[in-house]
Amino acid sequence: MTTDYVSIDVPFEFRHTCWFCGEPYYESHAFMAKPNYEGQSAPIMVPCCQECFGFTKEIKASSLDILRDKVKEKLHKKYQKHLQIGVNWTKQELEECEFEGKALEGFRESAWAMFEIAKGRVNYRGWAVSIDGIPVEGLTTAFQFEFDGIVYTSLNHAVIQLATAYAIPQPYLEQVVELVGRDKMAYALRFCKTSYGYSSAEIAASLASLRALLAEEKANKQIENSNNRRRKNTKVAISEIKELILHRTMISPYAIQWALEHGATTLQLLAEQEEAFFEHFNKESELTAFTYFNGLQIYLEQREIDPEWVVNSDPNKQLFES
Ligand SMILES: [Zn+2]
Repeated sequence: MTTDYVSIDVPFEFRHTCWFCGEPYYESHAFMAKPNYEGQSAPIMVPCCQECFGFTKEIKASSLDILRDKVKEKLHKKYQKHLQIGVNWTKQELEECEFEGKALEGFRESAWAMFEIAKGRVNYRGWAVSIDGIPVEGLTTAFQFEFDGIVYTSLNHAVIQLATAYAIPQPYLEQVVELVGRDKMAYALRFCKTSYGYSSAEIAASLASLRALLAEEKANKQIENSNNRRRKNTKVAISEIKELILHRTMISPYAIQWALEHGATTLQLLAEQEEAFFEHFNKESELTAFTYFNGLQIYLEQREIDPEWVVNSDPNKQLFES
């Protein structure tokens, strides 16, 4: 007689355990891929607890990992309130707070336990699937997204759940995550929670200010990087720098040295470091600082407006190129 189904292998320590969530075994779900892309010929029996068994009956999936993710999403949805306890409270706060009345006292006593149970079930990793000792290939957890100790099936799933948990309009959270990046979920949530309001005009304004902020951060980072590069690589001996006179102004080698060593090699970059420049040269005297700064501006301007002069006549052009 041939069997008309196959069972996934269950390691000894996982006997009587739900593959999806780790709760006690109830019954096996007979999994058939829908749509059946890979030509699965017999149902695969997957051990379930009572609740996950119920979920599996409503799910169509083309592979076991998709089935697993859909079961997890149903668990997340059903236990959203329990999972939210961890968002709203820490264990210590819950222990210290004084609820009045029987119902609330009961909540305090059981709340953290409910949270931990729900968290354990959605985070449960099951075990590597094999059939008759042969590993089943292609099951992936690559899309999973973890935040605050809780595993979601994907970034998109995390956004849906967290938007609800934090009472943020989902499309808004989505856009903020898109802007700041998936590794900055905590920042994205904080930004959304501290926004003025959630009308479409207010959201548009918040998104615009976030874009501006990020652009500024990015620009600062670039300046910092180029400065760091300069500082690391460029120690310029004063003897290497040629003094020069432009428009009857003497350009001090010390000013040029400072500019090279601080990456202040254009008018724009110098303007950004003006304060630092004066702080440095005011030690000598304010007049020196001013004279040096003025000369350096003339020099950098000349370099910007007259590239031909740079090539043919700038005695320090090699220093600026390195
Ligand atoms: Zn289960």
